[in-house]
Amino acid sequence: MYEAIPVETTSELSLNFNETNKGYTKEESMIEASRCLTCVNPTCVRRCPAHLHVPGYMKQIAKGNFQEALKVVYNFFPIAGTCGRICFHPCMEDCLQNRTPDGYALRIPMIRRAAADFGDINKLIIRPGFPTGKKVAIIGAGPAGLTCAYHLRRLGHDVTIFDKEKAPGGQLYYTIPKFRLPKDVLINECSILTKLGVIFKFGVNIGKDVGVEQITNDFDAVFIAIGAMKPITLNIPGEECNGVMHSLDFLKEVNEMRIKSLHGSVSVIGGGNVAIDVLRTVIRLSPDELHIIYRRSPREMPASKGEIREFIEEVVQHHVDIKDVDDAKEKFMLFEVLENEKSRTPTKVVAHFYTQPVKFSESAGKLTSIISSPVRLVNDPSNPRGKLIVDKDTTFELKTDMVIIAAGERPDVASLNLKELKTTRWNTIVVDNELKTSISKVFAGGDVTNGPASMIEAIRDGKNGAYALDKFLMEHVHN
Ligand SMILES: Cc1cc2nc3c(=O)[nH]c(=O)nc-3n(C[C@H](O)[C@H](O)[C@H](O)COP(=O)(O)OP(=O)(O)OC[C@H]3O[C@@H](n4cnc5c(N)ncnc54)[C@H](O)[C@@H]3O)c2cc1C
Ligand code: SF4
Repeated sequence: MYEAIPVETTSELSLNFNETNKGYTKEESMIEASRCLTCVNPTCVRRCPAHLHVPGYMKQIAKGNFQEALKVVYNFFPIAGTCGRICFHPCMEDCLQNRTPDGYALRIPMIRRAAADFGDINKLIIRPGFPTGKKVAIIGAGPAGLTCAYHLRRLGHDVTIFDKEKAPGGQLYYTIPKFRLPKDVLINECSILTKLGVIFKFGVNIGKDVGVEQITNDFDAVFIAIGAMKPITLNIPGEECNGVMHSLDFLKEVNEMRIKSLHGSVSVIGGGNVAIDVLRTVIRLSPDELHIIYRRSPREMPASKGEIREFIEEVVQHHVDIKDVDDAKEKFMLFEVLENEKSRTPTKVVAHFYTQPVKFSESAGKLTSIISSPVRLVNDPSNPRGKLIVDKDTTFELKTDMVIIAAGERPDVASLNLKELKTTRWNTIVVDNELKTSISKVFAGGDVTNGPASMIEAIRDGKNGAYALDKFLMEHVHN
């Protein structure tokens, strides 16, 4: 019978910033990996955006060869332990074990994490390729930029990564909470890039401190991987007042320990995975009240069921045990659990669904309350999610000391000051299937081309970008 992954239970958890997921022991990972059918035509590999060869490392882990398993992953990308912790794992949905009687998809990322936990990246022999004499500049040290640099060095090109921040990792370092991804794991994995000879230039804001034109003159090619970090605003009165923050700024302040506790009433607006990261972070900082504000119902929240469940489990006294219901229904029921179970935190948690903030009230520039209107969902043949009707004639006030808006993000391509760069109406950079932009020598990938997506899609683009850049650079050698 399948044994679920040993995640610390809520009763064991003290709500701090230590990692919540212990991962597998050696033995557990070997047992799990030995369930792999090593399929001839592995659907997990097809489904993984980076086409990571899952059965290749499963075979090694099943035999206890963690170092060999690590080697397999490092043929694809350099952040195995990071990826094992936070990947959204589309591969699991297509794992063929799902279709066997009594079968259950392998916990693929957790087994991958075991390769990193029990293998040793310092013992991996990864060398730069034979020098080509070509120089590439990468703008952005998130997963797309890091993966691109990793493969370019292995192909023999010189690589310099510019980042406006002070550490590598992009969102993985600055905004993903430490209780999901400890930063020493990421930083240790990034050290392999320095060993490979990648040059990091931190604290350089391209477009402001140095123009992209200058970078394109100084380098043979450029890869733009600046992510999607510009918050989408609500565009309502009072949004600029003291006490209103955007999610990425809030998460960064907490990760950098500039915010260590919260008091009074805190309200979080949004229903996606980032909103859940904000809620889980706020609950650890123990304000008196936490209000969740979302304009639709819980079943329509874009956040994954797993992320919502982890938040609810952290708040309520008992382990949440809801089985055999569909994803959307379960989201609804999870919030019912939140209402009905005894809270294990000193913070009172209240969820307000079908609620649309229309104004932030302030006094002397400081936030005092949120004015909201009720929302009605009506059928709309042109929109499968239905149409929201905000009843602006009715308003209600919620006294609050702090608001954190998690309404989404967009790339900030304008900050690069590149007029000739073609973009979409979502502000993403237009690229062809080789990740070439509208400007000669300039390629792009990751969230800046996909919009806010996932780490594994950024990794895919980093890898594909490196091979496309290599082709471009080597064509120019031979011509
Ligand atoms: C709170 C949060 C939680 C998430 N959780 C998950 C998760 O659990 N699993 C998952 O798969 N995905 C998750 N994601 C999404 C994932 O983090 C992103 O899809 C991924 O990081 C995108 O990678 P990227 O390399 O394209 O860009 P980013 O990671 O955004 O990195 C961009 C880098 O570019 C730098 N930069 C930007 N502009 C400039 C400039 N002008 N000059 C120099 N440097 C610049 C930035 O400082 C940054 O380091 C989460 C995102 C957020 C915000
Ligand atoms: S689909 Fe599942 S069982 Fe098949 S190779 Fe991939 S992980 Fe193994």
